[in-house]
Amino acid sequence: MLMLDRRTLLRSGSAAVGATALAAPAVARAPQLSKAQPGFYRFKLGAIEITVVSDGTLAFPTETLWGDRAEDARSLLTSAFQPSSPVGLQINTILVNTGDKLVLIDAGCGLDKFQNTNGRLLGHLASAGYAPGDIDMILFTHFHFDHLWGISDSKNASLLFPSAEFVASEAEVAFWSDPGLPGKVSAKQQPLVTQTNLKLASPRLRQIKAGAEAAPGVTTFDTAGHTPGHMSVHISSGREEMSSPATSSPTRRSASCIRNGRSGSTWTRRWRLRRAWPSSTAQRPTRR
Ligand SMILES: [Zn+2]
Repeated sequence: MLMLDRRTLLRSGSAAVGATALAAPAVARAPQLSKAQPGFYRFKLGAIEITVVSDGTLAFPTETLWGDRAEDARSLLTSAFQPSSPVGLQINTILVNTGDKLVLIDAGCGLDKFQNTNGRLLGHLASAGYAPGDIDMILFTHFHFDHLWGISDSKNASLLFPSAEFVASEAEVAFWSDPGLPGKVSAKQQPLVTQTNLKLASPRLRQIKAGAEAAPGVTTFDTAGHTPGHMSVHISSGREEMSSPATSSPTRRSASCIRNGRSGSTWTRRWRLRRAWPSSTAQRPTRR
């Protein structure tokens, strides 16, 4: 066996480095990778497995989000060292695996339908280990484009989730299905595209009242305001629970939208996760 003492090893190492340096210029070129991370985050909630799946990001001018409160928003964002305009919003969907059912909460923007920084849902679902055909149910918090349009292809011509039942609140379906919708919402919201997607979904659409349990452990509650039929979702298993307010602020211009700092992570998706404490324990935290 060849044995090298420390001095010999150091000498041979430096000689090798020197030889390499003289032989040829270092080649460090490698293709830059466009994906920094897989686009999902997974954790357990009791016996349920939750996977937060990114659809990408959106960016809007401050005025679009906060109107006459834009100046307040800009100053708050600046004080938090955040860009004040355009404002970036994270679009996340929530995949709930109850063990028996795969429930996707909201479906993102869809590919090539809005800004080119979103529509990533299917790719990120694949990274997380799921195909569109695996999804049993898509539960909608509301029907804005960044929650609904992801159910169909880029032409809004066919559905992408072949086995999914679609579930939404009666009030939300009534509002967005109204033939008079184009006169009720801004043209920027492209109401006809939303109605096209609703027509596609309608054969598999189940309407519920806010408060109903959509799947075991997945319960809705009424947070109308952002849209007329907006619902938030409460998920529980054993002694653990969490709630997804989604976009449940009373109005888009509500100060509560930006109270917690970066608007993208608060206005679009505000998540609270807490451990459930035994009800008999005096230390039980107050539900906020
Ligand atoms: Zn919305």
